Amino acid sequence: MIETGRLRAINPPRETPLFTPELLERLAQRVSASKPHTPYTLYSPFNGRVLGVFPLSNAQDVRQAVERARQAQPAWARMDARSRARIMLRFHDLLLERQAEILDLTQYETGKARRDAQEELLDTAIVAQYYATRSPGWLRPRRVGGTFLGLTQTWEYRHPVGVVGVISPWNYPLVMAVSEPIPALMAGNAVVLKPDLQTTFTALWIQSLLEEAGLPRDLFQVVTGGGEVGEALVATADFIALTGSTPTGRKVARQAGERLIGVSLELGGKNPMLVLEDANLEAAVEGAVRGAFANAGQLCVSLERIYVHEKVFEAFTRRFVEKTSSLRLGATLDHRSQMGYLTVQRQFDTVLAHVQDAVAKGAKVLTGGRPRPDLGTLFFEPTILTDVTPEMRVYHEETFGPVVSLYKFSDLEQVLAQINHSEYGLNASIWSKDLGKARALAARIQAGTVNINESYAAAWASMDATMGGFKASGLGRRHGQEGLYRFTELQTIAIERLMPVTGPAWLPRGWYGRIATAALRALKWLYRLWYRL
Ligand code: NAD
Repeated sequence: MIETGRLRAINPPRETPLFTPELLERLAQRVSASKPHTPYTLYSPFNGRVLGVFPLSNAQDVRQAVERARQAQPAWARMDARSRARIMLRFHDLLLERQAEILDLTQYETGKARRDAQEELLDTAIVAQYYATRSPGWLRPRRVGGTFLGLTQTWEYRHPVGVVGVISPWNYPLVMAVSEPIPALMAGNAVVLKPDLQTTFTALWIQSLLEEAGLPRDLFQVVTGGGEVGEALVATADFIALTGSTPTGRKVARQAGERLIGVSLELGGKNPMLVLEDANLEAAVEGAVRGAFANAGQLCVSLERIYVHEKVFEAFTRRFVEKTSSLRLGATLDHRSQMGYLTVQRQFDTVLAHVQDAVAKGAKVLTGGRPRPDLGTLFFEPTILTDVTPEMRVYHEETFGPVVSLYKFSDLEQVLAQINHSEYGLNASIWSKDLGKARALAARIQAGTVNINESYAAAWASMDATMGGFKASGLGRRHGQEGLYRFTELQTIAIERLMPVTGPAWLPRGWYGRIATAALRALKWLYRLWYRL
């Protein structure tokens, strides 16, 4: 460990990773790509060296992968949901058993700190356990109220949509390769996954583990490539679950709209944190450090703007700067580092551009603000800005990096308006000892999740509750029952009984109308009593 100014940094020596070049070669053979194919060389942000080579898929490969998945899907859908669940639970066990290997691989692909990789591993296991245990019950046909006067018996059936195309980003490769595919598979679908190029090996590792757990071959395919391969998948799959940026979400929604297929879109955010004057400041500072710098800020729900009440602004700022300045930086295969690298060059460029733009227009850097080539080419210090104004990019654009802006407020109504004045609405965080007040405020924030006295993990880890975005942060929801049901087609089956719903044939139409009118009036009064209206 070396001391560098106020920011403490860790540099290698690093341990040898547990995965081997042979494993990566075997994984590369799993890509759905026909020969001769174009090889892609993957560089690791962890050490700047070549990690491995895998083939790139083309549009024809995507069509073939979807076709193979389509062939394999009906048998899987016919299988009892509890048998599917047992396979998923085996996958859960294997994942926990092999965690050291996949944590190493994920760290090498992303450059993230061990603690961030571990967070996603645990989340992945939670998702597997949750959907394996809940789906069989949720997928049973559901008896619903019949028609008027009980003249029908009615059920809702849930059918798989067919082949679900999953398109994922690089920031949480383990979670993203699993949290959409698992509910899709549990609902009886096949999946074709297109991970970001940077995190292809993690996706292939997951595919291999699922097969080891008993998932039939061909049911889960991995295709590789960039946006054009994603487009080919949107052109052929029966449903698309995309996690990515808002501009990509718009493109995918347009293309899916043409084909009239369903989509769920988990997109960007510019997530606010609100610190009220009665907040536990020490806890709020801890929450701010984690919320802004977990995964080096490359987290869709990370906090990028913090509004602090004027009475506690100075105390909060002092402690926040102190804590941030003493973070241990770097990437090692153990838990010493508190913040790792940025994963891709374009993200590094955005972070640098946002900070430079803000500084040029008058923002003050309270700590950080610099790249750290001594630690790695893609390393940027955890950065706190103040005096940020609407002319600056960092004020309203998603940075998706370790940069957070501090704002002082005095009027709650004004700050709520400022918080909601954003095209995004993914996550928010409120800190106060008055939980009733905090909940009432939370309901007024336009965001899919709001965490009280926590930054992002409380809502994310509440697996029974949905997760997703308002406004340009997305469409549809992951997690909870909704997270499974979006991958199903809903069918109504109704049996007529006693007499025709449209009235007996012998009854004159005029009489039928009069009887139905009287019955509707009577029923309305019964319902008013029942529902206390
Ligand atoms: P991105 O939109 O550039 O890429 C995401 C994926 O979409 C990649 O696999 C990419 O190859 C693919 N893609 C790109 N263009 C496509 C097209 N035209 N058709 C189909 N697929 C296409 O996003 P990124 O930079 O990799 O990821 C960062 C973004 O993801 C951030 O905005 C972040 O907020 C968001 N994100 C959101 C969540 C969430 O749950 N809401 C989670 C993680 C990341």
